[in-house]
Amino acid sequence: MAGKCICKGCPSWKDCGEEIAYCFTGKSKCIKVEQWCICAACPVTKEMNLKHNYYCMKGSEKEQS
Ligand code: SF4
Ligand code: SF4
Repeated sequence: MAGKCICKGCPSWKDCGEEIAYCFTGKSKCIKVEQWCICAACPVTKEMNLKHNYYCMKGSEKEQS
């Protein structure tokens, strides 16, 4: 999923060398400021029928469910 993740194009995203696809991996250690979340536009959201957003700050899909 990391290959399909579009987080790197998100205004809230910061690079601290983490795996992306936060909807599976959960919270980021360095992304702290909610500017916007573009997960709704990500193909993974549709494919996996994800219901949440801001995974990098609020936790994975599983954690938020
Ligand atoms: S839904 Fe969000 S966190 Fe998950 S792969 Fe897509 S852009 Fe990344
Ligand atoms: S999970 Fe959402 S808010 Fe966080 S970097 Fe990805 S698109 Fe942006």
